[in-house]
Amino acid sequence: MLATRLPGILPAMTEKEALESAAIQSISFKGFKLKNWQQRIFRAPHHTASGVALVGGGSQPQPGEISLAHNGVLFLDELPEFDRRVLEVLREPLESGRIVISRATRQAEFPARFQMIAAMNPCPCGYLSHPNGRCHCSSDQIQRYRSRISGPLLDRIDMHIEVPPVPLKDIQSTTSKEESSDTVRERVVKAHQRQLQRNKHSNALMNTQDIKLFCQLDKSGALLLEQAVSRLGLSARSHNRILKVARTIADLNDEDNISMNHISEAIGYRRLDRGYPSS
Ligand SMILES: [Zn+2]
Repeated sequence: MLATRLPGILPAMTEKEALESAAIQSISFKGFKLKNWQQRIFRAPHHTASGVALVGGGSQPQPGEISLAHNGVLFLDELPEFDRRVLEVLREPLESGRIVISRATRQAEFPARFQMIAAMNPCPCGYLSHPNGRCHCSSDQIQRYRSRISGPLLDRIDMHIEVPPVPLKDIQSTTSKEESSDTVRERVVKAHQRQLQRNKHSNALMNTQDIKLFCQLDKSGALLLEQAVSRLGLSARSHNRILKVARTIADLNDEDNISMNHISEAIGYRRLDRGYPSS
């Protein structure tokens, strides 16, 4: 449910983004529908989808789900249930924003810059550490399930968040204080504009040079990140991704400098680097 809400809080598409998105959809089997113009697309392929359906291919190369989700959202529910080889193919587009499909006779390249959201359970049955005690998964089963997500793939996911069960009284509450998507979107748009003014593109697209320029830390922030990197054994890639997330948190707070709190919050979103939740 959270994932389906994401397109509703994203900034409006630029004409260039809308044209790219429409062009890819127009060459797919289903074609482009005018009602989708300038709408950020939400794709949620099933875990039984084939490699070709997901990343593209075929004798006349067709764009796959990752290209159809270009400039939009790709939601992969039950991530460990996807074919592991297919998941590994995602590593390239997650870095480069494009996918090259090579066939004996021809080669095709499609754009694939999508916002990926993935969901997984803590164990095959999904009830590990749940207060109802219904989980009877063996540690072997749990290990096998989790190992389907490789370290390098995990490295390319900016934020890992544990979502505990929502208490029944909160589901039934009629006096909820939740914000509407429109309110959240105003904040997102403002933070996005800050990024465009400063970097000329969104924080996600910052290269190493941009990171050096725009993600400078004060002494306490630098020390905290250094400690996290050595304690959790983080890669250079994770290090840079934490900096980008911290930069975005600062932007959402309308602040020019990244503080220790921003860095600390960004490190907190690397849940799976700290090991999986255990029973
Ligand atoms: Zn279980």
